[in-house]
Order: sequence, then C-alpha cells, then structure tokens
Amino acid sequence: MKRIASLLLIIAAISISASGALKGKVIYVNPGHGGWTANDRPIATINHEVMDTLGFFETKTNLWKGLELRRRLEKAGARVVMSRTRNGYVTAGQKNATALDRPETYCDENGQQQLTTLQTIAMNVDSVNPDYFISLHSNATGGDDGKLCNYLVLVYRGETGNDYAKGSIARAEQAYPIIWDNPLTVWTSSSPEKPFITGDLTWMGATPPGNPNALGYKGYLGVLKHRVPCFLAEGSFHSYQPERQRLLNRDYCRFEALRFYHAINAWFGGKPDKEGHIVGTVKSATEHFEHPLYKYVKDSDDQWLPINGAMVYLVNRDGVKVRGYHTDGEYNGFFSFYDVKPGKYTVMVEKPGYESITMPVVVKGNEITCVKPRMNKK
Ligand SMILES: [Zn+2]
Repeated sequence: MKRIASLLLIIAAISISASGALKGKVIYVNPGHGGWTANDRPIATINHEVMDTLGFFETKTNLWKGLELRRRLEKAGARVVMSRTRNGYVTAGQKNATALDRPETYCDENGQQQLTTLQTIAMNVDSVNPDYFISLHSNATGGDDGKLCNYLVLVYRGETGNDYAKGSIARAEQAYPIIWDNPLTVWTSSSPEKPFITGDLTWMGATPPGNPNALGYKGYLGVLKHRVPCFLAEGSFHSYQPERQRLLNRDYCRFEALRFYHAINAWFGGKPDKEGHIVGTVKSATEHFEHPLYKYVKDSDDQWLPINGAMVYLVNRDGVKVRGYHTDGEYNGFFSFYDVKPGKYTVMVEKPGYESITMPVVVKGNEITCVKPRMNKK
C-alpha cells in the first residue's frame, strides 16, 4: 500500500512538472500556399521581377516562418506537424503550375507528405487533433500594390465574437500583442489596445454560418474548417513595399517566427528562454530612399535609405567581436543576432563611405532587443 501511495505521488509530481509546458504538446504549423504559380503571391521587388523565385513569393516567406517556428518548438520539446516542408508543390492538375512545381502527392526526402489543398489540410488537422494550430501568411490590399497599409490580422473560423471552434478567440487575443511587437516595421493601424482579430465570415463579408466542408465544419476559410481552436495570421502586408523588402530577408521572417514561438510558449505556460535576441535595421541618417517600388509612410522610419552591405558586429564586454552580420542587398538594412547570452554588449556598424557607429545594447533573457543604427556619410 505504501509503495502504491509513493508511486502515485511520483506520478502526480511528474504530471505537475509537465503540465503547462510545451513538452509533449502537438503543434500543427501550416505555412500558407505552396507552389511557384501565379496564385502563390509573386510580386516584383526592387531587384527581382515578378515570378522570380529569388524575389517575393508568399509561398517562400510563409515556409521560412514555418520552418523556424518548428525548429524553436521542437527545441522546447513539442512535436510539430507541418502541412508542407517544401516550396513548389501544387494541387495535381493546377493549370498555372510551373516547371518548379510538383503535385502534392510527392513526399520530401524525409517522407513528409506535402499537403497544399485547403480541404486536405483541414482533414489532416482534424485527424491529428493537435493542441495548437496556426496558419502563416502575409496580407495584401487587393489589386493595389504599394498602398500605405500594414497591420496585423488574426482570423478565426466563425463570426466576430463567435468562434465556431471555441477557444480560438482566446488564443488570438493572447498571441496578438506578442506578434504585433515589431518595432522594425511601420504599422499603419491596429495595436495591442485595438487588435484586428476577426471571424473569417465577418472579415470576408460572407453570410453565417458559411458552407460546410466534407467533414461538416462551417465557416469561410478552408484551412480553418476543422475541430481545433486556432487562427490564421496575416503577419503583415507584403503589399506595403518596404515591408516586402524586409520579408525578402530570411532572418526577418525568423523574427516573426520567434514572436509566434514566444506566444505559443507563453500560452502553454512554458519556461521563458534563458537567452535573448537582438534585431535591427541599419539606415542612413540623412538620405531618403525614393524608388517606384518603395512607397513608404511619410515621416516614418521607412523614409530613410536602408544600408545594403553594411557590416554589423556584436561586441562583448571584453571588446571581442562575437558575432557578425552582413546586411543583404535587398534594401531593408535588416540584421539579427539570435540566441545571445544575456549581458551588456556593443553593436558596431561599418560601411565604406559612412562613419562607423557603436551603440550599447543590453540583452535580457527571453526578450528581443531592437536597435536602429543610423549612419552619417563621411
Ligand atoms: Zn496568403
């Protein structure tokens, strides 16, 4: 009897320590889109023509976010299921398919099935029945590229104020301020105080309760038609051109994934990260940037020329350069130092033709420190 009691105590202790953490949780990540077709949101950027796979394709940026989110979740002990792990998969028979596309019935080299049709994904989610589901996207203003419009939208299945999968609104409300917290972008509306969280039917102006899918779930967005409480995130607007230039940088997409990770980890009451992170943008202190594909919000940070090819160093207290980042050539000036030990550092920026700068930064565990060095011409 005594032995049984102590066994029970041990079991109770284990379940207490495991409850609330990410360990053992199943998270389903759906990077939106999938193919290299005209329907996968290709748009011209400063250096790339439309349909250039090195340029902007929402297919690609959604996958970058998804893979990084998976990496962080798995590191924290979660089991992650992804609808796809590759770009270039389309529905069999897709009339816009390019030579880079393959039908979704193919697997990747690890045997992972690639799912891209919304109904297949929804049915898969319903059968996996994960603890958390998220669909990753960015947004666009219809047919009006370059509009000065950039905000965060979280969409759940149902009508605004009435989530058809109960618990969806609670998840979106918890995540919103964490995902919104990006001082490197220029939000044109929405804030943690006025979050843009909406039911898909209300958002699309459709009549509730919407059409049922094969499983009988009603709503608007095909990918949300399953039993799991969840939301789809339009992380920012890629039709806001300076934001599109930032999204071309994979580490900028990782920054969004990091915020999703923080939100999901906090939702399950997981341990905060021991390490912290630095993100930033290097821009000119005096030069404006004018380009037909770079319409920016007046008087915002986006008015300043992003410095391509700047060298950014993270210097520790002993004066040792512990990390380095070379800003890309895509007119975003973005740099990042992820998973840095907490402490005091200096960020040092160099670029030929400009005066070098140093800025003190403090890294704190589980926090993202944001710096915006501005360079003066020599
Ligand atoms: Zn999308």
